[in-house]
Amino acid sequence: MEHKLPTLSYELSALEPYISKNTLEFHYGKHHQAYITNLNNLIKGTAFEDASLEDIVKHAEGGIFNNGAQVYNHTFYFEAFKPKGGGEPKGKLLAAINSSFNSFDNFKAEFSKAGATLFGSGWVWLAADSAGKLNIIQKKNAENPLRDGYVPILTMDVWEHAYYLDTQNARPKYIENFWQLIDWDLIETRFEKS
Ligand code: MN
Repeated sequence: MEHKLPTLSYELSALEPYISKNTLEFHYGKHHQAYITNLNNLIKGTAFEDASLEDIVKHAEGGIFNNGAQVYNHTFYFEAFKPKGGGEPKGKLLAAINSSFNSFDNFKAEFSKAGATLFGSGWVWLAADSAGKLNIIQKKNAENPLRDGYVPILTMDVWEHAYYLDTQNARPKYIENFWQLIDWDLIETRFEKS
């Protein structure tokens, strides 16, 4: 089974001024594509040749895990953006956020802090545990909370390649911009399916 670069629901310039076309040309067009190309090469002739991406994330090791998880993580990340996104979630997701973090503003502050303080390359996740409770989880490199039995709801890439062309060393500025793009309707759908 060949993995393919997913089509985005928006133009590469549509997330400006928060994420530039230049960043997406590299981050989606080159980094994401490279993980897919590497994954397709690595799985040939292995037990993961016909595995779903989710199974690769849950069970693979080494290069197949690193590239497979980076494919999953980037697809999950890019899918959550829309032009004129942002604002706040509603309904059951908002209720779960309020229950776990007291308020949406407090959730945003805690998630942002987790992104700003993650040392080196990695991802910050909002993920549901088996009881449906929401957790903020810092993960290094390609790591993904699916592997620990959580259901991912939202992720933020804090590898330098996600922001260096736009905000250089200022990761907190990138994090502020991230919130302006979130498609909360889609995140609510993910939560309801969890
Ligand atoms: Mn990335």
